[in-house]
Order: sequence, then structure tokens, then C-alpha cells
Amino acid sequence: VQPPPSPLHAFRAAVRRAPERTALAYFDARLSYAETDALSDSLAAHLTARGFTRGDRAAVMLQNSPHFVLALLGVWKAGGVVVPVNPMYKAGEMRHILDDAEVTAVICADHTWDAFLRATAAATPSVRIALTAHEAGLQTRNDARVLRDGNPGPREGADDLLAVARTAKHLRAVPADPDLAADDLALISYTSGTSGTPKGATNTHGNISYNAERQRTGLGLPDGATYFALAPLFHITGMVCELAACIAGAGTLALAYRFEAGVVLDAFREHRPAFTVGPSTAYMALMAHPDVSRDHFASFHTLSSGGAPLPPALVETFHTALGPYLHNGYGLTECTAPCATVPPGRRAPVDKVSGTLAVGVPGPDTVVRILDEHGAEVPFGEPGEIAVRGPQVVPGYWRRPDATAAAIPDGELRTGDIGFMDTDGWLYVVDRKKDMINASGFKVWPREVEDVLYTHPAVREAAVVGVPDAYRGESVKAYVSLRPGTAAEPADLAAYCKERLAAYKYPRVVEILPELPKTTSGKILRRELRRRG
Ligand code: ATP
Repeated sequence: VQPPPSPLHAFRAAVRRAPERTALAYFDARLSYAETDALSDSLAAHLTARGFTRGDRAAVMLQNSPHFVLALLGVWKAGGVVVPVNPMYKAGEMRHILDDAEVTAVICADHTWDAFLRATAAATPSVRIALTAHEAGLQTRNDARVLRDGNPGPREGADDLLAVARTAKHLRAVPADPDLAADDLALISYTSGTSGTPKGATNTHGNISYNAERQRTGLGLPDGATYFALAPLFHITGMVCELAACIAGAGTLALAYRFEAGVVLDAFREHRPAFTVGPSTAYMALMAHPDVSRDHFASFHTLSSGGAPLPPALVETFHTALGPYLHNGYGLTECTAPCATVPPGRRAPVDKVSGTLAVGVPGPDTVVRILDEHGAEVPFGEPGEIAVRGPQVVPGYWRRPDATAAAIPDGELRTGDIGFMDTDGWLYVVDRKKDMINASGFKVWPREVEDVLYTHPAVREAAVVGVPDAYRGESVKAYVSLRPGTAAEPADLAAYCKERLAAYKYPRVVEILPELPKTTSGKILRRELRRRG
């Protein structure tokens, strides 16, 4: 099936096909496809009336709520480009993005606006329009009604998103269809910053539409299925695999504001989703929740893990405790979420030598090559940098021709990840190139050590980093958090690794923390741990 040129085309097709079907489910609130269409139309009308025009950028800084979806569709309908911004960012981080993308509109929660955006936006000359949403207030069941008939009241300096949507509905002319083409810009996605200052990857409508359709049909998810938004929608994984894929199949998207294990488990019971995707750390947190049971997962067709390494030991313990096998997938912002996934009904193999779990096989139109430092292909089984070419790869970074030429020469993305391919076409990710530890000249890949730590019954989370060492140059240090109700001494964990790994790989120091630092999309921040030393 040829994907439509844009996710907006897919949305319009869903409205025609199933206008009464629930598009968005948020605690007690429900919005049908027809209602979602009308509300996003009026937002588009509002933006257009204020001079927002084709190609303009709008920052959307919202958690997983219906407002996020309305804002996204409204901006696209007005012909604009969405800049998703993590709403947890502080003023300096937001300022960088607002400036860099030269946004003219910001759409955020009212508390974000009040806390610092008012000042940030005032200091960013390009910003002319601000819309706020009563999003946080919708978290509790009783407040969910606000979505339809509450009265958020006037807000100084910014219009309330839903008030605008409701009142504008009957008053304003809906702007003409922007008639989006596949190579029009849909998003500027700032990389989540686990490795430095964020750069804006320019995901086109065609990039999103292709990957959403591939994922839905590739996994065999039925039309009208319920998707649960576990990964944040402001991150590319959530945007494509949850939101765009759901719309492509005229499905229902269930949302629960932001990740909190107990709330997510309740939402699984209430909405009975068929699909979700999140980082492996989210599954670790769900598994550690005292109320978790097999019944919470009984409705799932596929539970995907993506955007971060999936330790093979977690797949086994999750399956034994709760039933499903976690389904691996590999991708990055620059390839608009996945470029390799596990085919339905298959189990990803584990490499016998390194113990690494395969991330999947590249999609049918995607070419993955493994390159040495000179850019030449290496033989099967040998590690090198993963390079990807395909319809999901972004054309470049926003206003950064230098970074584009370095990372995407001739349209082939150099991922910065080290991996290898086996003779059956399975792709394995060893680690990030820049996370390699050089201990006395020996290469140590943190993930291999982490995978061993995860087989220890007391380990909940593990992260391995290189720390300066006068004698070895760098030495291996492990940070771990423990499962509730278990105990382990650092020396025992080091000895456990020593028994299972070559002498230069096992962690010389193990430090136990209550929890490891993570990005808000759930990835463990090795950078922060490296800084701790
Ligand atoms: P930044 O680019 O600023 O460091 P980020 O890397 O977190 O931020 P993303 O594009 O979200 O930005 O992350 C993609 C990275 O996540 C990949 O390059 C890879 O290192 C890692 N990754 C994604 N999926 C997997 C997987 N299934 N197994 C192992 N690693 C994965």
C-alpha cells in the first residue's frame, strides 16, 4: 500500500471513514474523529487569522493529552511546521529551540507559560502568538470534563487552546486545505540531547507517513485498533509509532498525560489497548509496580520497546512474569523513529558471542550498511558504524548544512551507533560510538556489561560508563538501582560481572543509586553519570 503524502491526509481519510469512532481517549474524556477534526479546524482558523502562514513554525510543548493532538493537527492544517518541545525543559533549553527554529507561535500548558515561557517568549522576537491549554488539570478523572464543557477563563497574554477551539468553531472560516506534499516539512525535532546541544532534524510529511504506515501494516495491527501513548508524543517514537500509526488505521489513541506506572496500568485496564511502545526503562518500572498482573497486558497484540537498548534478560523476566515478549525496534530521530523492527510472529535472536539481542531487520525499502572508519562496508558479523538509507531518513538538520553534510552525506544517515549484521539480515546494535570505554587500550562497550548486570536478580536498572583512571586511562564503572525488596552489595555485583566477562570489561567500581537519571523520554543519561565520575 502506498502511504498518503502526509499524516494529515491519513487523518482526513479516517474522519471520512469513521467520523463517530473515538479518536482520543483521555481518562473519562472521549473525542470522536469528527470532533477532533472540528476542534483542530478552528485552531487552524485562529492561527491563520493571526497571520500564521504556510511554513511558519509553532512550538508545541505539551504532555500526552488531547491538546497535543489538536495542536499538531491545527498547525498542519494551517500549513505550518510543528516544533515539538519537551514541556519539562527549563527556560534556557526552550529559549535555544525557540530562537533556533524562529518560531512564531507557542502552544503550551498554562503552568508552563506562567512559570517561564511568558518571559522566554517575550525575549524571543519571532514569537507573536501564544496559546495555552488547561492540560495539567485534565489529569484527574473529575477534571476530564473540562475538555468539553469547562470554562478555563481568560489568561493574561495567551489564549486558551480549547476556549479558542470551542468559540472559534462557529465564527471563523476554516482555512483552505494546505494540500501538503510528501517533501513538505512536518516537524523540526530537536534530538533529545543525551549527547550534547540539540540540533533540529527536519522530518517531512512523507517521512512520517511512510514510517507510520510501515509500522501499522508491518505489525499487522487491525484497523480501528486502540493504541496507548506510553512514549511521549513530543518524542519521535511517540509521534510516529503511536499517534501517526494510530491515525493511519483510524484507531483510538488512549493517553494518560505522562508516564507514571500506576496510572499507566489503570489505563491499560480501562482502554484495553492492542499496541504500545516505550523505552525499556518504562517496562522495568511497570514490572516493578506492586499491582502489576498478567491481566494488565492481556489485550496487547504487540508491546514494543524502542529508542533505547533492550536487555535480553528483561525480555525473559517480563515474559515469565507477565506473558508478552517485548518486541524490539531500532531507530533515531533522524530516521523518523524505526528503521529496523522485528517482523510479526518472530522472536529476535540473541548473538551467541556477545549476548546482544537483535534489534530487528531493516524495512523493505531501507538499506542498512555497516561501515568502517573509512566508509567502506565491513563483512557480516563485524562491527562498524550503522548507516541507513530509506524513505524515513530526514533530508537534513534545520539550517545546519555543516551538520547535514557530516551526518547525512548523499542522503545516507551515519547514525553514530556501532552495530553488526548477521548473515540472516538481523541487525544488532553494540553501542553508541561515543560511549566506548578505552580501558588500557581495550575497547569496552558499556551495553555488554549492562546486559550482564541485568541478568542479576536484584538489578532493576544498570548503566556503565568510563571514568578517568591514572593507570588505565579509563576504567569501567557501573551504576545500578535495585529492585524493590532485594539487596545486593557493590562488591558482589562486581564479582558477578567478573565471573561472566573478560578481565578488562568487568566494572572496577559499582555504585548503587535509588534511581538512575533519565531523560523525560525515559532514556538513562550516561552523560550525567559520567559527570558524577
Ligand atoms: P541525542 O541524539 O541528542 O544523543 P538521542 O540519541 O536520545 O539524543 P534519539 O534519536 O531519540 O536521540 O535516540 C536514538 C538512539 O537511541 C540511537 O542512535 C541508539 O543509540 C539508541 N537506540 C534506539 N533504539 C535502540 C535499540 N532498539 N537498541 C539499542 N539502542 C537503541
